[in-house]
Amino acid sequence: MTNISTEVRALSSSMIEIRRDLHQHPELGFQEVRTSGVVAKRLTELGFAVRTSLGKTGLTGFLKGSKPGKTVLLRADMDALPIQEQADVPWKSRNDGVMHACGHDAHTAMLLTAAEILAKEMPRLSGNLLLVFQPAEELLIGAPAMLKDGVLADVKADAAFAVHLMNRLPAGNVAVRSGSVMTSADKLELSVTGRGGHGANPHNAIDPVVAAAQVITALQTLVSRETPPLGTAVLSITTLKAGTAFNIIPDTVEMTGTFRCFDAKLRETLLASLQRTAEGVASALRCTARVRNEYLTPAVNNDPAVTQIAREAATEIVGKDRVTEWEPMTGSDDLAYFWQQIPGCYAFVGSGKTDGSPSPANHNARFDIDESALAIGADLLVRAARRVLQGVLS
Ligand SMILES: [Zn+2]
Ligand SMILES: [Zn+2]
Repeated sequence: MTNISTEVRALSSSMIEIRRDLHQHPELGFQEVRTSGVVAKRLTELGFAVRTSLGKTGLTGFLKGSKPGKTVLLRADMDALPIQEQADVPWKSRNDGVMHACGHDAHTAMLLTAAEILAKEMPRLSGNLLLVFQPAEELLIGAPAMLKDGVLADVKADAAFAVHLMNRLPAGNVAVRSGSVMTSADKLELSVTGRGGHGANPHNAIDPVVAAAQVITALQTLVSRETPPLGTAVLSITTLKAGTAFNIIPDTVEMTGTFRCFDAKLRETLLASLQRTAEGVASALRCTARVRNEYLTPAVNNDPAVTQIAREAATEIVGKDRVTEWEPMTGSDDLAYFWQQIPGCYAFVGSGKTDGSPSPANHNARFDIDESALAIGADLLVRAARRVLQGVLS
């Protein structure tokens, strides 16, 4: 049995209404104009000092308590994905080719609900409440854009919390973990260049296709041979482009890929190995290799003390047996940039269906959540923030 607080229960249906409205009007990263308008209007009504245009479409709400104290930051992301929704729900997306397939509609609705409850309590609490509504999480560039625009310039936050819905976890469960929870992400671009020629006369050409094939194979040893057995790294070459005809050896092969890691030092080591391996293997086959990496986001690390606050809050709501540690994920979230500056806890709230109906994963065109998860997520934010504002954190 879940023990949702009375305040959240009273707002449950309005929270679901907000979520369904946002679900019908999904917007891609940095295009969340309607969404941030809805959020700004609501925060203003609730008495928050609102700052807009932070990272293009991002915004914040700030509220002071009656006495000085700690500052708590609560963060939600607002963007949708370029997916044509196939879920058969009455609140289906009305924007062709755009869908809230990762639950960010629900994250926004949960944070607005937590805002309403905490705004009423602030006169009795100490410290400050800073709500961050972030754009463009799916592009992994919304959080740094907000930081660049000075979202934390005048505020020193002491603790931060955020929740993400996960369909892999049945509704009624919460995953809270201290330390590494999500990996860093690098986008890779590789090219292998030889010299083109006739497919029938390879000896007169320098074939980059064969060299690229060997580069891809050799790169797999970075994870299998150079990563400590108990460490984690992922390297996937995901696109491969070469050639124009069956009888022509091309000049160049272009590849892209993704590289993920929990440990910043291991990331540096493996990026150097990546360079060395690609260049060395290509060179052995008379080709040249170029490797470029774009550092998208650091790993997400949850602070132990702040995570303990979230764990206690989650335990009050769903009970000890349904608070799991879960495994760290090789997905990434640019919230990591906030967590680098503020001790934070990113918790995962189960939103998988519990009535036996299928629960396609986040980012699937049929993604659909069990809406009972919203009350759990909102309550978790409220209870965790309240603890900090009551002075739990030393
Ligand atoms: Zn996502
Ligand atoms: Zn997401």
